[in-house]
Amino acid sequence: MSPLSPTRGVGLTSQRTRDRMVSRLRDKGIRDERVLAAMSEVPRHLFVDEALASRAYDDAALPIGFEQTISQPLVIARMLESVRAGRQLDRVLEVGTGCGYQAALLAHIAREVYSVERIAGLLERARTNLRPLRIANLRLAYGDGYKGLPEVAPFDAIVVAAAAPELPSELPRQLAPGGRLIAPVGLEEQRLILVERRESRLVETVLESVRFVPMRMGKR
Ligand code: SAH
Repeated sequence: MSPLSPTRGVGLTSQRTRDRMVSRLRDKGIRDERVLAAMSEVPRHLFVDEALASRAYDDAALPIGFEQTISQPLVIARMLESVRAGRQLDRVLEVGTGCGYQAALLAHIAREVYSVERIAGLLERARTNLRPLRIANLRLAYGDGYKGLPEVAPFDAIVVAAAAPELPSELPRQLAPGGRLIAPVGLEEQRLILVERRESRLVETVLESVRFVPMRMGKR
């Protein structure tokens, strides 16, 4: 164990617990080895409140404060697998940093990751969670994800972690040719939407029903 390793709740938060989560993900049909490896490496329990650490590896969404939730492992795995589509990812954008868990996963599967969050207090929490992991290829930004990050676009992949009533129109414009975006879309009834940029056109595919916290405009 490195000097930075967490010592709390070792029994429930060990590599073995994480491996069990990964084997459940395999059983549910996740095949992307890069995604599975990332999920086996990133210590999810460090991203939730200590009181919830024993449930960190359950296939459940959990509260992370500010009325937000960390998404369910299976939903995250499906989103990462669909957006990666077996490609090497160069530059990636996440909208909705939350506690920083998915951003850490993305940093394991892409060369360079940007993640934008609209709630300052949550971004601060994500920084605290991520610090001990010393991830060098991840940049966090405070801002409104509806605008994307035009100054660093285009992206090979964009992952949206909050549900907008309609697909935020600025985001597909920031996809590189061949790039893919995945986002939960809808109000009461939400579906995952996958958008692919093929030369000059965008191809949209509607995937499964999901339940995400709402995407909001502006910073807070
Ligand atoms: N990926 C996160 C999930 C966080 S929940 C994780 O691994 O924990 C969704 C997040 O999206 C919340 O933190 C919420 O504040 C944020 N969000 C909602 N609307 C947003 C917007 N317009 N721009 C940036 N972030 C937004």
